Amino acid sequence: MGKTGLTSEQSAFQEHARRWLGENKPPAPPMRLPLMAIEVMHEAQRDYLQAWQRRCYEAELVGTDVPREYGGWGREGCQRIANQEMSRAGTPFMINIVGLTMAVPTILVHGTESQKKLLIPGALTGEEIWCQGFSEPGAGSDMANQQTSAVRQGDDWLVNGHKVWTSLGHFAKWMILITRTSKEHKYDGLTYFVCPIEGHPGVSVRPLIKITGETGFNEVLFEDVVIPDSMRLDDVGKGWTVAMTTLTYERGAAEGAGGGGGGADPVQRLVALARQSWRDGVRASDDPVTRDALVQQAIVYEGLRMNMRRAKVPALNDHPMRLPLQSKLTSSEASQNAARLGVEVAGLHSTLYKKDPKAPEAGHWPLAYLNSYGGTIAAGTNEIQRNILGERVLGLPKSK
Ligand SMILES: Cc1cc2nc3c(=O)[nH]c(=O)nc-3n(C[C@H](O)[C@H](O)[C@H](O)COP(=O)(O)OP(=O)(O)OC[C@H]3O[C@@H](n4cnc5c(N)ncnc54)[C@H](O)[C@@H]3O)c2cc1C
Repeated sequence: MGKTGLTSEQSAFQEHARRWLGENKPPAPPMRLPLMAIEVMHEAQRDYLQAWQRRCYEAELVGTDVPREYGGWGREGCQRIANQEMSRAGTPFMINIVGLTMAVPTILVHGTESQKKLLIPGALTGEEIWCQGFSEPGAGSDMANQQTSAVRQGDDWLVNGHKVWTSLGHFAKWMILITRTSKEHKYDGLTYFVCPIEGHPGVSVRPLIKITGETGFNEVLFEDVVIPDSMRLDDVGKGWTVAMTTLTYERGAAEGAGGGGGGADPVQRLVALARQSWRDGVRASDDPVTRDALVQQAIVYEGLRMNMRRAKVPALNDHPMRLPLQSKLTSSEASQNAARLGVEVAGLHSTLYKKDPKAPEAGHWPLAYLNSYGGTIAAGTNEIQRNILGERVLGLPKSK
């Protein structure tokens, strides 16, 4: 292990990732890309991003730590490096975010050999897009209140119900799905399946429009949908335990099978905006109030980066969920504050939206600000994150 805390294999991999990304960063796409994978709406966006994911997979930057027998590259501790290098290079995000960061790690922990061989390779290449069917109209924060039912019928299960806020459902081949298999027990009455979506009889996917005017998530209806028992993950009644594995990865407690990239560093982007914006006849970047706000943002982002370095020091990780819960909470709020500052710096121009040719950065800042509210809700709202941090990590008394 060298000074960097990396083994020689990891250092060589880091060098490979940096070199490959330097030589292969794609040119700007011919269409506008959304800010993140869960907002991909059009087939042209999907095709461009799928092609990029496949190239990254072939360069071993996706599926890096996944065993070779399931289509991965069999390395150790290298996925985090690949993700960091992609983000540093500002390359496009991975479209199959649900597959890579939630489904694959969950299947690796709870799946059978044949499930791993069937399901993981297509998720890594990006050919098979995944979505997550956890939330329902009455089961969001109270995730155990699932009402979508699965009833055993010989070797199959008959599923009926209604999922909502299903990101990427409109392009998905597969869904990770929680169902209720017993009404007698709240938590132990849940069972977890992988359900085919695209073209599967009885499944309807309906887009939902967001505050931004875009879509990206959906409601998914199940009417007498048949799922073979071979698509059940882990035991009947163990759905809550399997879902907790998924949530641990979704909230970033551990590396999944990929997920780096996603555009320019927000602080650098804000500084560039301030250099192009004017207020009271001076450049915003020369205005002391704006400069102070920019420095505050830079401090927050540097603090977030420093805090994540604690992950490498076991003595600073007294509770396994402290860092991931903190990170989801603080990074979603930091993104929101950065976007709010972008809107302020652009001033009146922030009222110009995506299709206006005069909108700064094609309307990025108002779009990012409206979108940032989703980040404080998805994967468990920040109020819930605060409750969990308070009660489970800090040991505070339970809220009433
Ligand atoms: C952009 C985006 C993408 C998403 N993608 C997916 C997806 O792909 N698949 C999927 O399954 N779901 C997805 N979701 C759904 C997400 O997981 C839920 O929205 C979230 O869990 C909150 O549930 P809810 O919307 O039902 O709100 P509710 O649970 O009804 O909460 C409403 C409000 O009450 C507060 N609240 C509730 N309970 C408590 C409590 N005990 N203490 C304090 N405050 C409380 C909440 O913080 C919130 O402010 C997505 C959501 C967003 C915004």
